[in-house]
Amino acid sequence: MAATKTNLPVDPARIADVIDGLARLTEPGRPYTRRAFTALFPAGRDFLLDRFRAAGLETRIDAAGNLVARRPGKRPGLGTIMLGSHSDTVPDGGRYDGIAGVAVALEVARALADQGIDLDHDLEVVDFLAEEVSIFGVSCIGSRGMAGVLPEDWFSRESNGLTLEQGIRDAGGDPARISAEARKDIAAFLELHIEQGPVLETEKLDIGVVTAIAGITRIEIVVEGRADHAGTTPMGARADALAAAARLVTGIEALAKSLSGEPGHFTATVGEFSIEPNAANVVPSRARLLIDARAEERAAMDLFAASVDLLTEQIARETGTIIAAPRRISDNPPTPGDPLLLDVLDAACETAGASHRRMASGAGHDTAWMARVTRSAMIFVPCLGGRSHAPDEFAETDDIALGAAVLFNAVIQLDKILSQEGA
Ligand SMILES: [Zn+2]
Repeated sequence: MAATKTNLPVDPARIADVIDGLARLTEPGRPYTRRAFTALFPAGRDFLLDRFRAAGLETRIDAAGNLVARRPGKRPGLGTIMLGSHSDTVPDGGRYDGIAGVAVALEVARALADQGIDLDHDLEVVDFLAEEVSIFGVSCIGSRGMAGVLPEDWFSRESNGLTLEQGIRDAGGDPARISAEARKDIAAFLELHIEQGPVLETEKLDIGVVTAIAGITRIEIVVEGRADHAGTTPMGARADALAAAARLVTGIEALAKSLSGEPGHFTATVGEFSIEPNAANVVPSRARLLIDARAEERAAMDLFAASVDLLTEQIARETGTIIAAPRRISDNPPTPGDPLLLDVLDAACETAGASHRRMASGAGHDTAWMARVTRSAMIFVPCLGGRSHAPDEFAETDDIALGAAVLFNAVIQLDKILSQEGA
């Protein structure tokens, strides 16, 4: 991780001020909880609004409920370079997930102003609404909205008598205008995020340049056996759904291990598992499991899914259970980082004196949705022990500030490169 660098173009103290200020706005006795659509979320927004305005930025809430702050460029109509992340947290979340990216985006805008640098492009700083899985059970509401791909049938989702439609309105958005206001003017989008994993810390590197945000596929498998008396049914005369499902779980783990690493990031986890009747003296009659599989390369996911199909057929045959064809209940492809932006980010790391490597993101991010409408990429900064979504999530201010310097350099380069393209 970074030794303290001097002569950074950004101010670490101002970044820390934003992170600390938001950390104070947490549900009492429950650090750090500031979920979207709950009472505390607007307090965080007010805090950001205050900091954005103090930086001389023009602020607005867009139709999807995103807080957007703008610094006009010299060439109106050329398009917008956008930076940002999210200020909402999971329950009992951390101080940095999303928040570091918003703080850094603001700091880049302030550093440009301090140094009298006027970009050709407009620069926008965004705090996306509800990146985390929200009280409505869905995530990335603001970034999906900005990209014009927020499903309208989500508006009627309800939580505690509130609909998502009303929740967006309460955040200052206008659900009826979301599709019409989908952004087409963004020239590039960049996001800084904590890694939420151990790689950078382990390898003592400053920055991860994210090659792709892994695609996520969820596969449900139901094993049907037969309930029998646990004491009287001989071992050779059973169709034990749990024993078959257990073989599936270890088989899935072995498959995932064989696919991890090459080519690209791959993980698979059986995160949900239930059995029936779940009684001590009954042979299990039914087991259900849900696989969360994540792949940087689509080909790895296709190979995994085909292998799981074969595995279930084999285990059903050998155990006398019935296993229906595994069902993909959701299936999102990976989102590669934009090649030009990745090169610009590598170069920006060199300029800032930051050690760096390319790596995939196993977690989803707003960047994946912004990639639907513009060139997009993200960088990671290290976090302690890879811990995240927990109160002990921690990242060094100096590491975050070095990431801010990388974005600062990248924005200046991109402004030049994209101006020539747009000229
Ligand atoms: Zn996040």
